[in-house]
Amino acid sequence: MAVEYLCKVCRGHLKVKTSIVLAAAKTNSPTRGLIFLNPEIGNYTTTTHPSFQIKVGEEYIYTCPICHSQLNSAKYNHLVRIIMIDDDGKEYNIYFSGIAGEKCTYKIRGNKIEEKTGSDLKNYNKYFEVPEEDRKYL
Ligand SMILES: [Zn+2]
Repeated sequence: MAVEYLCKVCRGHLKVKTSIVLAAAKTNSPTRGLIFLNPEIGNYTTTTHPSFQIKVGEEYIYTCPICHSQLNSAKYNHLVRIIMIDDDGKEYNIYFSGIAGEKCTYKIRGNKIEEKTGSDLKNYNKYFEVPEEDRKYL
């Protein structure tokens, strides 16, 4: 069984062949298009149609191409969440940055960070590295 990626809302399959397919729109702009993400964690290669150029530093709203739900996290500013199912059928939350060019990915199961990668993690570690004794205040 291959690793699969699902929409967090409709649980539709977002990985087709070798890419995760999402719809993306620049915030406060009519610019929108499809974006293919590499399903390998830590690989930030993206593919878009030449008519839809991703601008580094701009924030994008990602939506599920199946149910059109917004995938940007309501809880964690600037992060986007999708679901991963691994080879063993285990389910994880995958968070990545909605800001183009930012490299950070978190793979989370329950409250535990299973994997994190990217040179921009420092911007977001504050969301996830809350000492256990402070969690009750969240
Ligand atoms: Zn969906």
